[in-house]
Amino acid sequence: MDCLFCKISAKEIPATVVFENERLVAFEDIHPQAPTHVQIIPRKHVATTLDLTAEDRSMVGEIFEVAAGIARDRGFAEDGFRLVVNTNPAAGQTVYHLHLHLLGGRSFGWPPG
Ligand code: 5GP
Ligand code: ZN
Repeated sequence: MDCLFCKISAKEIPATVVFENERLVAFEDIHPQAPTHVQIIPRKHVATTLDLTAEDRSMVGEIFEVAAGIARDRGFAEDGFRLVVNTNPAAGQTVYHLHLHLLGGRSFGWPPG
């Protein structure tokens, strides 16, 4: 399968990995939109949120747990941070492998663009 994030997970494409285990990988975004911009992904290929099934429930929970842990480690958890999952073209999804954006280290506007 020709999937960029599967290749990052398999170390076929380099990335700055900040956390990994058997199920998940977290790595620095190549075009950061904030002082911290990390992607947290499952190793399993899931294209979008619409492709999640009941068997993915614990994986989705673990993705959020990892995001919160990185936010705490980097010292901006209490100030606040933004978690984003873009789904399909209207939301601007460009990589069709599920990923949670962790953005932190600055303030964010609402509503988003
Ligand atoms: P999306 O627009 O699908 O929600 O987010 C895709 C994200 O992947 C973007 O923030 C983009 O900068 C990031 N990205 C795209 N290609 C690469 C890459 O080769 N390496 C890394 N580390 N991030 C990438
Ligand atoms: Zn993939």
